[in-house]
This record gives sequence, structure tokens and C-alpha cells, in this order.
Amino acid sequence: MEKHLPTSCDLCPRACGANRAAGERGACGADDELVVARAALHFWEEPPISGERGSGTVFFAHCPLKCRYCQNDVIAAGEAGRPVSVERLAEICLELQEQGALNVNFVTPTHYAPQARAAVSIARGRGLAIPTVWNTSGYETVAAVRANAGTVDVYLADFKYADSGLAARYSHAPDYPDAALAALDEMVRSTGPAAYDEVDGEPRLVRGTVVRHLMLPDALEDSKRVVRLVHGRYGADVRLSLMNQYTPVLADAAAAGDARARAALRRCPELARRVPDDDYERLLDYADELGVEDYFWQEGGAAEESFIPAFDGEGVL
Ligand code: SF4
Repeated sequence: MEKHLPTSCDLCPRACGANRAAGERGACGADDELVVARAALHFWEEPPISGERGSGTVFFAHCPLKCRYCQNDVIAAGEAGRPVSVERLAEICLELQEQGALNVNFVTPTHYAPQARAAVSIARGRGLAIPTVWNTSGYETVAAVRANAGTVDVYLADFKYADSGLAARYSHAPDYPDAALAALDEMVRSTGPAAYDEVDGEPRLVRGTVVRHLMLPDALEDSKRVVRLVHGRYGADVRLSLMNQYTPVLADAAAAGDARARAALRRCPELARRVPDDDYERLLDYADELGVEDYFWQEGGAAEESFIPAFDGEGVL
């Protein structure tokens, strides 16, 4: 029995009640094994997170949210990755530090939170000195965020939808806006405003909360709502990151005969399209009009598959 895991899981807002400690698989696909798909330097996060040296990303398998348009569908579906122990995850953190990583960046760690915290604790005792980044879909509980106090230095949290209908349509989670907002309140309270140090003459984020919003096709108005909501509620305590890298991976997968992708596109054909540059410009103009300062934005042509790394087990074993 995995001692770190709950017997009735409520690690994410789905609270599906799986007995994870005994090996039961939850709605996210995770059981009692800790599965990692890739642990390597990654250069495509926001500049004060990736810097020139790279962010030490650890991509976990499975996902509580499983969005229809997921760019990392292979790992969200648990089709890549290898089981590791908590002890091994601690070693991985230290190896990433040795490779020069600016931070340890746990990608979609929500369903493995107890093991991730235990690994950081072991690694800290062995000399882990770089910040920890919790790179999350935003679909977290307040209790889970509170439990991360003392472990997580930086939240890199998505805020995907302001509209419950969109959250239901794309992520089967109509409670997403309310849940993500409550969790975000706690993240901001926990980290406080952004703080930086300097590495190689460049700023590195060592504490704070960054909220990412990925624009989706035909959803400009919802994106504006997200910007208005986050900026109005947190002001300069949160740095927004407005992203235009939506990649219609479903279209290619469907063309190649993938049944899951075809079914998703039958229900949501708009997901086969890219986000027009004009829509992205309108969103940035809107953020400017609201007086949002210092937000991250992406250059044109960001929607390339190069953002999606190979989940080949690099750095895992
Ligand atoms: S983390 Fe997974 S097992 Fe736990 S409540 Fe969420 S979906 Fe269920």
C-alpha cells in the first residue's frame, strides 16, 4: 500500500473517492504508482522560468482534467511514462539541478501531490536549492494548495475558462471556473507577489503566481472574461501569461485515424481550427485597455508542435 496516498481520493475537485493507497485507479487514470513521462530541461516556459539554462520539467502521466484538445494527450491518457519511487523522484530533482535547471517544474502534479511533496522534502535534505514550480491545470482544491505550503515556491497555474459551459464542453468539468478561482485565491495568498533573483544576469522567478490562459478557437469573449476576472481580483499580485500556442493536434490525429480524436471533433468541430492572429491581437489590446501591466505574451507563429516535447522517458530511470 502506498503510504503517501489517500484511501478515498479528493486530491482534485473531482473527488472521485478512489482508494489510491490500495491501487484503485481514479478518474484521472492514476493508481498507487507514480508515473513520470519525461524529466529534462525545457526552454519554452515564460522567460523568468526557463531562462537560458532551462526549466527542470518533470512531466507526470495521467491528468484529472483531460481536456478534449489536450496538447499532451499521450501522457494525459497514461500512454507514456514509467513508474518511479518517491526516492527516485527526489534523485531526479537533484539531477535536474546538477544539469543547471533554474527550477524544478512539476507539470500536472495534482494527482501525485503527496508523492511530489515527499520527494521535494527528501531532495531538500540532500541539497536541492532551486525553486519548485507547480505547473497545474488550475483544477485544484483549496486543501491541496494549503498542503503545498512550504513545498511550492511558484505556481504556474492555468485559468482555462471563465464560462462553466465551456469548461463542461471541453473538460467535463462545469465546476472548473469556481474551483480554479478558489484555488487561485489560496495560491496567491500562499506565494504573495512575484519575487525574483538573478541568474546569469537575467531575472528568475523565485516566488509568486503566474496565471496562464491559452486562447481557444472561437472563444475570444471568454478569454476577455478571464483577463478581466484575474486582473480585477488580483491586480499586480498575479502575472498573466496570454498564450496563442493552441495547436489543433486533434485534426492531425483524426486524419491519421485516431478514434478518440474523431469523436472529439464530431462534438467540437471548432477545435480543428487555429486561433486567428487577429483574435489574439484583440485580446492583447483588451488587456492593455484594462491597464494590465507586465503580462507575458507570445510572438506570432507560436502554434508549433515544437512546444510539445517527446514523451520518451528521457531522464526518468
Ligand atoms: S486526483 Fe484522480 S483519483 Fe484523486 S480525486 Fe482527482 S480524479 Fe480522483
